[in-house]
Formats: sequence, structure tokens, C-alpha cells
Amino acid sequence: MASLSIAGITKGFEATQVLKGVSLDIRDGEFLTLLGPSGCGKSTLLRILAGLEIQDGGTISIDDRVVDDLHPKKRDVAMVFQSYALYPHMTVRDNISVPLKMRRLSSWQRLPLFGRCLPNSARIRKEIAGEAGKVAKSVGIEHLLDRKPGQLSGGQRQRVAVARAMVRHPAVFLMDEPLSNLDAKLRVQMRAEIKELHRRLGVTFIYVTHDQAEAMTLSDRVAVMLDGELLQVAPPDAIYAEPNDRRVAEFIGSPK
Ligand code: ADP
Ligand code: MG
Repeated sequence: MASLSIAGITKGFEATQVLKGVSLDIRDGEFLTLLGPSGCGKSTLLRILAGLEIQDGGTISIDDRVVDDLHPKKRDVAMVFQSYALYPHMTVRDNISVPLKMRRLSSWQRLPLFGRCLPNSARIRKEIAGEAGKVAKSVGIEHLLDRKPGQLSGGQRQRVAVARAMVRHPAVFLMDEPLSNLDAKLRVQMRAEIKELHRRLGVTFIYVTHDQAEAMTLSDRVAVMLDGELLQVAPPDAIYAEPNDRRVAEFIGSPK
């Protein structure tokens, strides 16, 4: 688990200012959703949190440690992408194993002579396959381990992406519209699975969506984002019942 502090994050691409000073504190174990229309800057903020993009200004801390200069792999966060970003030529087992192999590789590189054979050793390969199998089972895809992404349904691909993030045991889970490529019925079903996953893992979730119903049912708190700014951060009912800004009320469609 981890708490996050986002302070004054700004980011521009050429002439457009995409993030205009975003500040937000997220509690240990919280399920926080960034909710806003397409193009408001949600993915950009998530990518900055993951270290995949560098902010122009502002600071990000995880558990009171500034991570601005920390490589993505060292941030203790894992991201599930909207497109799932699976490797099409690899089996499900190998897709899930990628982060585990990377982790072995970094300890291997620290042991240039002794460790050169480590990732190839049968014991380690077996350990990695075992760990991938365990995580696959926990999200109900253990029967799909030998398939490739092209042989899976959208919902199954989504579970593979979640499993690949889970093997890292991150303190923070970042999810960028993980359900948006699924049909409406499956989307509602997967909502329950994500909620259950959060309950079971007990780690901090930062979830991105443009879907209000998703945000309202999943979240401890919702951060409403419009045009690169956070307008309100509050529990779902408060966002609906007491929008603090006309633009929030209009976006949510609440009475005010
Ligand atoms: P959201 O996820 O809320 O839909 P994004 O963060 O993807 O929004 O994008 C916000 C704005 O930033 C959009 O106008 C988008 O075109 C722009 N943008 C995002 N990434 C880049 C990039 N790498 N280069 C140029 N513009 C970008
Ligand atoms: Mg996006």
C-alpha cells in the first residue's frame, strides 16, 4: 500500500497546456477515480504518475518519497492500459511473466559474472512460470495460459493485462479506462471484478474513466477533471449532490 501526493503538476505539448497545475492527495489503500471527458488530460496524468511521461512542473511523492527522477520500474506502481498493450506473439503465460523476467534481469545485471546464467536456469524458469500461473488462477484465466492474445475475447485480454500488473505486487495500481473496449454487459460485470480485486489486494488504486456510472460505483472518492484541472475531489454522493462548480454540475448532470 502507499499514499500519493501530487503537487502542482503541469504539462504541455507544444502550444497546448494539457495539465494546468493538478494537486491531489491519495490515501493509502484508497480507490480514487479520475473522471472527465475525453481529452481532458487523464491519461497524461496517469502516464506521469507511472513515470512514462515527465511533467513540466510539480512533484509526485509516493509514501513521502519524491519519485520525480525515479525510473518507471522503480516506482512501485503498475499500469493497466486502455489497449491492454499485450505482446501479440507471446502466450498468456509469457505476457504475464514479462515483469518477473525483467525483475530477475535487474538483479542479474548486478552480478555480471556469477549471475549470467540465472534467467536461463531451469529452477528460475519454473519459479516464474509457477508465479504467473498462480496470478492467472486468481483472475480466472489459468485455462488460457498457452493461448496468444489474438485467441482471446476482450474480457479475457483485460484479465491478462490485470494479471501482468499484479505479478509486480505494486503498491499502487494505475488503470486507464480498462473497461472501455468491452461491450456494455461485460463492462458492468467487470466493474464488480475490479472492485473485488481492490478489496482483495488492499492496495491503492487510481482509476481513470469517462464513464460516470463506473466512477460512482467503484470509488471511495472521485476527482472530476475538466480541461486539465481538477474541479472537485469528493466521495461519489457528494459530487452528485453538492457539486462545487457549475461545470461539475453540468458534466455530472446533477440538480444544481
Ligand atoms: P484523456 O486521457 O483525458 O482523454 P489525454 O491525456 O490523452 O486525455 O490527452 C489530453 C490532451 O493532450 C489531448 O488534447 C491530446 O491530444 C494531448 N496529448 C496527449 N498526449 C500527447 C502527445 N504525446 N503529444 C501531443 N499531444 C498530446
Ligand atoms: Mg485517455
